[in-house]
Amino acid sequence: MKILLHTCCGPCSIYPIEELSKEYAVSAYFFNPNIHPFQEFKRRKNSLREYCEKNRIPIIDLGSYGMKEFLRKVVFHENTRCNVCYSWRMEETAKRAAEDGFEAFTTTLLYSRYQNHDKLRQCGTELAEKYGISFIYKDFREGWQYGIDKSIELGMYRQPYCGCIYSEQERYDKLLRKKNNTTK
Ligand code: SF4
Repeated sequence: MKILLHTCCGPCSIYPIEELSKEYAVSAYFFNPNIHPFQEFKRRKNSLREYCEKNRIPIIDLGSYGMKEFLRKVVFHENTRCNVCYSWRMEETAKRAAEDGFEAFTTTLLYSRYQNHDKLRQCGTELAEKYGISFIYKDFREGWQYGIDKSIELGMYRQPYCGCIYSEQERYDKLLRKKNNTTK
């Protein structure tokens, strides 16, 4: 069975690619307009490309920088932006998979301990119905440490924040972090 894997970066793709390759013919799809700024987008894209080339995983598209479109979608909805971010990236993957004759799709976002796993699963299930293909759900978080160790061993670029400029501020702005902690 041919599966299209939405990939967010190189390190997060290691474990899902290894696992899925045991059962499926995997192709990668890099669609991540949420990653800012441009240099960060390029670093993540290049780390994925290098990993896939070394491991002979076809990449069907490496996408283009989509900061403007992303911001247009989330502005005034900053606090719920992750839902927009998940559904946009996953819908593009499901649509592309259906158009290109893949039987299934899934995402490396299921590898992250920091994402909303239940929402991702629900989103994938709904999109599978909409596009008439299978969504392969796997809890890739079980390979969390394996992926970290392997990416360090391979000298891959490892990103320090989720992706969007809002998450970059949340990662580095000490005052904002303090404020968020005290308002919880
Ligand atoms: S925090 Fe991460 S998942 Fe949420 S909108 Fe930003 S890039 Fe997307």
